[in-house]
Amino acid sequence: MKKEYKEMEEKLRREKAEIEEELAKLKTTLDFGDETDHEEEESDESEEIGNYLGIKKSQDARLNQINHALEKIADGSYGVCEKCGKSIEQKILDIDPESLLCKACKQKGRN
Ligand SMILES: [Zn+2]
Repeated sequence: MKKEYKEMEEKLRREKAEIEEELAKLKTTLDFGDETDHEEEESDESEEIGNYLGIKKSQDARLNQINHALEKIADGSYGVCEKCGKSIEQKILDIDPESLLCKACKQKGRN
């Protein structure tokens, strides 16, 4: 394993822990919400649940990507673009450690 990926791995693990913590916090907020039985709060609650599910969905997607990146670090294929097979620019990995695509493929994917 290359030395710089050790750093990436730590970054990814930290990010993963932060996301998990955020999701746990959100869930706790909602659990408290369930205890209030006032009718006028019902609409707020369903809105909160909607928000939570929205956040959870995007955070779950990020977690999956982070886990995938961690697996790649473990099997030695990290830092290689999944589309074109070229190595991903270090700059990209610094900004976005869970990135699976190089700069060019990323830009293509956005269009
Ligand atoms: Zn590429």
